[in-house]
Amino acid sequence: MSSAGGEDASSSRKGKEREEDGAGGSRREEGAGLAEGEVDLGDLYGAAAGWVEARTSCPHLGTLPPAGAVDVTRVPPPDSPCCRCHHPAENWLCLICKDVLCSRFINKHMLCHYQEIGHCLALSFSDLSVWCFACDSYLDVQAIAELRPVYEVAHLLKFGERPPFRSLEVLDLSSGENGSSSRA
Ligand SMILES: [Zn+2]
Ligand SMILES: [Zn+2]
Ligand SMILES: [Zn+2]
Repeated sequence: MSSAGGEDASSSRKGKEREEDGAGGSRREEGAGLAEGEVDLGDLYGAAAGWVEARTSCPHLGTLPPAGAVDVTRVPPPDSPCCRCHHPAENWLCLICKDVLCSRFINKHMLCHYQEIGHCLALSFSDLSVWCFACDSYLDVQAIAELRPVYEVAHLLKFGERPPFRSLEVLDLSSGENGSSSRA
């Protein structure tokens, strides 16, 4: 009699544990569903705003001329006209040969330049962004060491001052010691 009562008690405990597990599992599923919905909405808003993430690497950086003082002095002023149609403003700078060419919204001369001779890396004189025609993507000028010298010079020519590099990521790349010593 007493042993039968013990079995009843243990089986009822197991039943309660199962119920609790079941309730916890269903709550988790609801939570995961909400989280996924939020992420999807975020992506949609990002795409609607026209914001595109810039690449932090590009397989065509090897086509750039070696970075150095000699190359950087060849950067023309940001108000240089297109060397083909002489469109006066918001042109692109070919980072391989330093020709200035107009955008795809004018006479497409930078695009033609890429299609004709394969120079795929260009810097926009309107916002100093770098576009790779071969990757069909913007490149992150502050994260890619090969692009920083020409970007700095273009920024200096356009705004009269060096760009304010966004802090930590760049410093990490060039090691903390270099960052602190160059500041001091
Ligand atoms: Zn042009
Ligand atoms: Zn070129
Ligand atoms: Zn590329």
